Amino acid sequence: MANKKRLLCFKCNKELELKKTDFSYLGHTFFTEVPACPRCGQVYISEELVKGRISEVEMQLEDK
Ligand SMILES: [Zn+2]
Repeated sequence: MANKKRLLCFKCNKELELKKTDFSYLGHTFFTEVPACPRCGQVYISEELVKGRISEVEMQLEDK
């Protein structure tokens, strides 16, 4: 299970840490952990992560 990629901030060259962040997409607000730079606070939201969260939320919405 060693599939964790080490992400580095391009600016600071610091290893990113998971940070709970909220972001909005298509009118929905998501609260999830994203890799963020502990120094400058830059977050890296991958398309993959967004799509994963979107489909989760969409399923929840349809399940009502
Ligand atoms: Zn940084």
